Amino acid sequence: MLKGKTALITGGSRGIGRAIALALAAEGADIAVIYNGGETAARAVCEEAAQWGGKAVAYACNVADPDQVPTVVAAILSEFGGVDILVNNAGITRDGLLASMSEEDFIRVMEVNLGGAFHFTKSLYGHFLKKRSGRIINISSVSGLMGNPGQANYAASKAGLIGFTKSVAKELAGRGITCNAVAPGFIQTEMTEKLPREKQEAIRQQIPLRRFGTPEDVAQVVVFLAGETGGYITGEVIRVDGGLYI
Ligand code: NAP
Repeated sequence: MLKGKTALITGGSRGIGRAIALALAAEGADIAVIYNGGETAARAVCEEAAQWGGKAVAYACNVADPDQVPTVVAAILSEFGGVDILVNNAGITRDGLLASMSEEDFIRVMEVNLGGAFHFTKSLYGHFLKKRSGRIINISSVSGLMGNPGQANYAASKAGLIGFTKSVAKELAGRGITCNAVAPGFIQTEMTEKLPREKQEAIRQQIPLRRFGTPEDVAQVVVFLAGETGGYITGEVIRVDGGLYI
């Protein structure tokens, strides 16, 4: 379904980004996997993706760095000849109640979660415009829709990503480019494994489907949006949360 397309996935070395990278590769896409510290993991994702016959290359880049991003995007465009699908997935948490949250933790989360999407989308903006096509998919969170105690920084960054998504969607729709957000609930990754067991159990009780999601649950929605199937959807936020937000 995605043969001949190239997908760039930020934070593709682990968790949800890894599952997205592999699901897109399984559909035939070539993939460029962006990692920060996890070089071995990112290379392993590329090796696993090779089974589907497409090209898969890992690139080191701190998404929060406005100088690194255009350089790595230029290298990817030259290596792959173009990019068709951009998945802004890289994200971090620095949780804490607002009274004790440092300015550094607030800004760092904004720089990675929101700044990263800004830098990558901006770096590919001209390329997508010229092609008159492109799919931009931003991984937000239900925290950005509902808020969450202890996550003022994270929820603000993810809510910001939704405003960013809708603005970019309106800006680029006239050129056949779509921009959507996916808002996962609680998904089993290293990010949620950091939560104490009792907290995880309490959260599970609040989820109508009574389980955490898997990275693959999120990845399949990204595949849908990235393909022809998602061609008439833009500016949308699709929750993958087991009903948490209902
Ligand atoms: P994760 O397991 O902690 O993985 C985070 C990924 O982001 C890693 O690949 C990491 O790369 C990358 N990353 C972090 N900082 C980066 C930076 N400065 N530059 C480049 N890459 C960076 O997280 P996850 O649970 O898969 O979450 C993925 C996305 O889904 C995030 O945006 C997160 O906010 C969102 N989300 C997750 C959940 C959940 O329940 N897990 C729920 C809602 C939304 P390295 O390993 O190479 O450092």
